[in-house]
Amino acid sequence: MNNPKTTVNKICPVFKKCGGCQMLNLPYSEQLKIKQKKCERLLGKFNKVLPIIGMENPYHYRNKVQAAFYTDRRGKIISGVYQSGTHRIAGVDSCLIEDSKADEIIVAVRKLLPSFKLTTYNEDSGKGFLRHILVKRGFATNQIMLVLVTGTPVFPSKNNFVKAILKQFPEITTVVQNINGYRTNLVLGENQKVLYGRGYIEDILCGCRFRISPKSFYQINPVQTEVLYNTAMDYADLRGNETVLDTYCGIGTIGIIAAKRGAGRVIGVELNGDAVRDAKVNAAANNLKNIRFYKADAGEFMAEVADEESKPDIVFMDPPRAGSDIKFLDSLIKMSPQKVVYISCNPETLARDLEYIAQNSEYVVKKIQPVDMFPHTSHVETVVLLSREKTDNNI
Ligand code: SAH
Repeated sequence: MNNPKTTVNKICPVFKKCGGCQMLNLPYSEQLKIKQKKCERLLGKFNKVLPIIGMENPYHYRNKVQAAFYTDRRGKIISGVYQSGTHRIAGVDSCLIEDSKADEIIVAVRKLLPSFKLTTYNEDSGKGFLRHILVKRGFATNQIMLVLVTGTPVFPSKNNFVKAILKQFPEITTVVQNINGYRTNLVLGENQKVLYGRGYIEDILCGCRFRISPKSFYQINPVQTEVLYNTAMDYADLRGNETVLDTYCGIGTIGIIAAKRGAGRVIGVELNGDAVRDAKVNAAANNLKNIRFYKADAGEFMAEVADEESKPDIVFMDPPRAGSDIKFLDSLIKMSPQKVVYISCNPETLARDLEYIAQNSEYVVKKIQPVDMFPHTSHVETVVLLSREKTDNNI
């Protein structure tokens, strides 16, 4: 019999060092079972957990790929991922879950650096040039964005460098230089310059077109995102004329799809200014006039809306891994929309927030649907429908 350790090392030589795919050593069907069990353990007390929706082809699904760069003692340039829990970089040329074209672009940039005498950034000395690369690809449009994250603003022979990379990859539609000279774990810095193209890419999800900037959040698995959003829309069961609140809205995807599917009025709120700008453009690009986006903390915004007279009928909430906060949840309860559709990328914080809602309101959890957005990793996404007990017959 094969030793599972040797087998997984054959599948991925940096399985251990990278730590990104915690479950790569297990068959996909087994991974799904474990995720299902985790959801049942954490969420089972609220209602039955529906069977997790997995991927038909759970490879190369990541539309956003990042690589860190460094030069070893012998002067060889390495690109890859930080070894888990360290500041050392493990070299990666191709990855089973990343978009293959993005991986090819990263290797090509690395190979081009010496001929342009471009150095890599050294975290200890704060000197040097290229720090990270970020590639985003719109799977439906095949538009590709290449972001070169540099430690300094000066980019010697930048035009020729861009020309050389475009010659190899004519499918790249935009190249951006992002400057990050700080000692930080964040990949992207504040300032950026568009070197080629429009500075953003577009993608299509659930029939709507979306603009994606370097810094805006966009779901990384577009195939499963459609499954996720369709489930969320089913749960919202829009009949027309509802007022819908899309909180933690990113570039407005959920609200825009809801508006397209007949919501009467949509309000979106998001903290990241770039994402809000994209959301506004996206609403216009999809010919939607009944939608407004605000840049604010979702909890603060909810508190304000809860005090207003006209209250939303449906609230979508899609917070980051940390989940929501008490301010948000209290305002949600006060606002008391007919339905709440909670989309979560962390079942632990989801369970915590559901517990708080259950104990402090008359909402009941009606549906729990896990979706595997991140095959081979231990992460799992879940869509939950909550509705007020009294409105049972409306569902
Ligand atoms: N619904 C979107 C984005 C979900 S990711 C989609 O499906 O694409 C979570 C989003 O919450 C991110 O865009 C992040 O910038 C935003 N966010 C994080 N903290 C926030 C806060 N306190 N208030 C509002 N938005 C926040």
